[in-house]
Amino acid sequence: MDFIENIELSGDSLCRIPVVAGPCSAETSEQCMATAKALAALGVRAFRAGLWKPRTKPNCFEGVGAEGLAWLTAVRRETGMAVMSEVATPVHVEEALSAGLDALWIGARTTTNPFAVQEIADALRGVEIPVFVKNPVTPDLALWIGAIERLSNAGVKEIAAVHRGFADYANGRYRNNPQWTIPIDLRREMPAIPILCDPSHIGGRREAVEPLCRQAVDLGFDGLFVEAHIAPDEALSDSRQQITPQMLGAILGRLVLRDGATTEGQMIRFRSEIDAIDAALLDLLARRMEVSRQIGRYKRSWNVAVLQSGRYAEVVARFVEGAKSAGMDEQFIKKIVGAIHEESVRQQLEKEE
Ligand code: PEP
Ligand code: MN
Repeated sequence: MDFIENIELSGDSLCRIPVVAGPCSAETSEQCMATAKALAALGVRAFRAGLWKPRTKPNCFEGVGAEGLAWLTAVRRETGMAVMSEVATPVHVEEALSAGLDALWIGARTTTNPFAVQEIADALRGVEIPVFVKNPVTPDLALWIGAIERLSNAGVKEIAAVHRGFADYANGRYRNNPQWTIPIDLRREMPAIPILCDPSHIGGRREAVEPLCRQAVDLGFDGLFVEAHIAPDEALSDSRQQITPQMLGAILGRLVLRDGATTEGQMIRFRSEIDAIDAALLDLLARRMEVSRQIGRYKRSWNVAVLQSGRYAEVVARFVEGAKSAGMDEQFIKKIVGAIHEESVRQQLEKEE
C-alpha cells in the first residue's frame, strides 16, 4: 500500500515505521494546527482527527462535524502531512471526499455493522482513497475480514487494518483487550493487508501507550495509529489516553524495530504468532490471579480456609483431561497447574495494605 509507505516517520534518529497521529477529536482549528505542527516537527507524516465522533453515551461531545474539514486541509497546507478522519455514513464519505481528505478510517462501532459498512463501501465505489478499517468492537475476526472484503469488492484498492483491541466486560488491565492472536490471524488470512496498532484505544490510559507500541512493533505490526493532543488533559474526548506530541516523540525515539537478523519472512511470522500467544497467556494468567485475589478477600471475610484440596483435585483432573485430548503430556500439564496453583495461593494469602 503506497499510502502506508509514504507515511513512514522521517527523521534520522527515528525508526522507519509508518505512524498516523493526532487528536481523538478535532476541537478547534487552533488545537488541530498546534498539534499537527508539533507532530510534523517530530517527523510524523499523517494526521488523524475525528470529526464525527461515535460516543458510547449521549450528551457527550459528538464532534464538530463538517466544519472541521477545513481545519484538516489547512493542516495539510501548512505541514504537508496527509490528513484523515473517521467516516460512519455515506454523507460523511461525501463530505470528506469533497473536502479532499487524503485517507479515511472506519471506526470500531461501524465495522461491527455490515449494513453500515456496505453503505460506506457503495459510497466509495470508483473513488481512489486509502481506507483504514478498525477491528469490530467484539472479538470477531470474520466481521473484520467481512468489512475489508466489502470495501475491496467495491473497488477500494488501498486498505489497511487497525487493531484497537476488543471490548471485554471483565475489566482488565486495558480499556480494550488486545487479544493479539486475532490480528495475527488476520495477517495469516489476508497477508496483503497492512496492520497498524492503535495503542491508545487498547490501553485507555497514557502510561499504557509506550509498552503497547513496543509490543506491537515486536509482534511485527506494520505501523502505529496513535492519539496525540496538544493539551490532553483538556481534550473533549478520550482525554486519559491521549499523549502530548512531546511524549510521542520520546516514545518513538526509544522504539527499536526488530532487526533483520532473521530476515526469513516465514520465520518472523511464526515468531510473531508465538509472541502473540505468549502475550495472550500472560494476560489470562494476570486475570486468573486477579480473581484469586478476590477469592482470597472473600474467603477471609467468611473465615474459609484458603486451601481446599477437593477443589484443587478437580481443577487438576480437568486440566489433565483437556491436555490429553490436545495431545499434551500429563506430567507437563501437572507441572503447569501446580505452578499456577502455587502462585494463586500466594496471591490469595497476600493481604492488602
Ligand atoms: C477513534 O479513533 O477516536 C475512535 C473512535 O476509535 P474506535 O473506533 O477504535 O473506538
Ligand atoms: Mn478516541
